[in-house]
Amino acid sequence: MPSILLIEDDVRIRQSLARALAGRGHDVDSVATGLEGLEHVISHTPDAVILDLGLPDLDGVEVLKMIRAVSQLPIIVATARDEEAEIVSVLDAGADDYVVKPFSGEQIDARLRAVLRRIDQGSGSTTLEVGDLVIDGRSREATLGGDSLELTRKSSTSSPTWRSMSAT
Ligand code: CA
Repeated sequence: MPSILLIEDDVRIRQSLARALAGRGHDVDSVATGLEGLEHVISHTPDAVILDLGLPDLDGVEVLKMIRAVSQLPIIVATARDEEAEIVSVLDAGADDYVVKPFSGEQIDARLRAVLRRIDQGSGSTTLEVGDLVIDGRSREATLGGDSLELTRKSSTSSPTWRSMSAT
């Protein structure tokens, strides 16, 4: 079940959206401020974030940049009509998609599934798993039962990247 973090200060929108997404098979956590959202991303590593731009503590674009500084997880920005001018800047800052309020649970669910599908395809094309054998095409490393295998290149450094990539 994909875990979604919802960062939204409006309590009614937050509750109805959390309910709608939970009803569509997502595991939803929600917070009301940008700072809490950033802390949650670091401590819980959700699969995707829905970020409201108009937050009480921090500018949404700044929250987006801070999340991007620590994670490449999919971020969908939720914006009110009067914030639409910001869409270009949030896409430039690394948002994967956006929705304009008011939006339905159905629409945000469809957009979430789309960004999560792209993530799945991205890692699936580079990581091959056969039983205990895991081959990471991107870093050209292989492990068997968690132990690094020496491939063509001689290297004594063991990279942790395959673990995070194959974990999803
Ligand atoms: Ca808001």
